[in-house]
Amino acid sequence: IALHDTTLGPATGGCRMWDRYASELDAIEDALRLARGMTYKYAAAGVNLGGGKAIIIGDPKRTDREPVFRLLGKFINRLGGKYFTGEDVGTTLQDMEYIRMETEYVVTLPTYLGGAGDIAPMTAFGTIRAMQACCNRVYGSDSLEGRQVAVQGLGAVGHNIVGQLHELGARLVVADIDPEKADAMTAQYGVETAPPEEIFDVDCDVFCPCALGKVINDATLKRLRCKIICGCANNQLAEERHGHMLEAQGLVYAPDYITNAGGTIYDTDRLEVGNVNHDRGRAKVSRIYENIQRVFEIADRDRIPSYLAADRMAEERIQRIAEVKKYRD
Ligand code: NAD
Repeated sequence: IALHDTTLGPATGGCRMWDRYASELDAIEDALRLARGMTYKYAAAGVNLGGGKAIIIGDPKRTDREPVFRLLGKFINRLGGKYFTGEDVGTTLQDMEYIRMETEYVVTLPTYLGGAGDIAPMTAFGTIRAMQACCNRVYGSDSLEGRQVAVQGLGAVGHNIVGQLHELGARLVVADIDPEKADAMTAQYGVETAPPEEIFDVDCDVFCPCALGKVINDATLKRLRCKIICGCANNQLAEERHGHMLEAQGLVYAPDYITNAGGTIYDTDRLEVGNVNHDRGRAKVSRIYENIQRVFEIADRDRIPSYLAADRMAEERIQRIAEVKKYRD
């Protein structure tokens, strides 16, 4: 269990189960890196949580899960609320239920255990709010009506983005390596599909990556024919230099971890208030619009690319709140 920073609140971040680490040190490094990422994500999202992460070195397909996750629950409980865990790569909501048997310090729970349930629709909503802020920067209007959006990846979040964009009047081209998912979107919304390898070449306003990471790289930057990159996928920049290159090409980029925070904002809202409330949670997710605007303000102020401005926004909030916390209650 890695705790990165608790200035804003308890360290929070999912539990990853993975067996491909070269060594234990490799796993520890991964946990620390991911915990740091969570510090930035919560800080920039305006959430009062710090960054943490847990890693179980083990086969994610292991079947006898109850003892493993209950034991992790015991370890988490010993930390007395300094760390909250949640679902991540290789773990499921069922695993969170096992952890919950031993400790209350768990996010991402099903609704019948007092959690928010499926958060993908809120990740989608937050992504669309980010897209509206980007459209405002480029076109001077939030409206997505008539905007052409190319969506890569139609999984848990992607298919929700397509549905919500369709309602807002956007024109869509979608792609997934699973043709059934693309066909389902055409049947439901009448959207156009593209072969997955051709989605980068679509002439559009917004390229919306909702599949894998490292999608903005040397090869794709030569092909993209959009004005805006805004999607929910994690770690979109293959390398940091691509964050500079895309700006040099005149593209507007909504930094991934600001854009895709909707699900986690919605999910962790109950920690501050004690219960899940849809309207309040959704209102908080909606502020991703202002968060992206602030990123652009910092980018303009400091003449830096948006991916760096996102980090700076997070660091500035942590510094300022650390000052506030010096005062006695
Ligand atoms: P998912 O696994 O449900 O969906 C991913 C989809 O992408 C699948 O349908 C898959 O077939 C498709 N895909 C994979 N490679 C592709 C390719 N080369 N071209 C086109 N399609 C491809 O995942 P998800 O939960 O929807 O998450 C999508 C991305 O968003 C991930 O990067 C994830 O880390 C990130 N994210 C998700 C959430 C969430 O709330 N689920 C929150 C934050 C970030």
